[in-house]
Amino acid sequence: MSKAQVIERWWLESGREQCSTCGHSYVYESGYYCAGCDAELCSICVEVVVAAEVYCGQCLNDQSVEA
Ligand SMILES: [Zn+2]
Ligand SMILES: [Zn+2]
Repeated sequence: MSKAQVIERWWLESGREQCSTCGHSYVYESGYYCAGCDAELCSICVEVVVAAEVYCGQCLNDQSVEA
């Protein structure tokens, strides 16, 4: 009585949120918000995590310009 292995990808497949960077849907609990522009990011598109804040690639570019 062995079930076939279930690959659980709930964080990618059944989400109602949509990543602003790659357009992938994800569940809210696994998503992130960019600390710079408040863009919705999926866990794949998070570029850098600094002190529990995440940034998208675009804001990283903006920061390097400001600094
Ligand atoms: Zn994404
Ligand atoms: Zn951003």
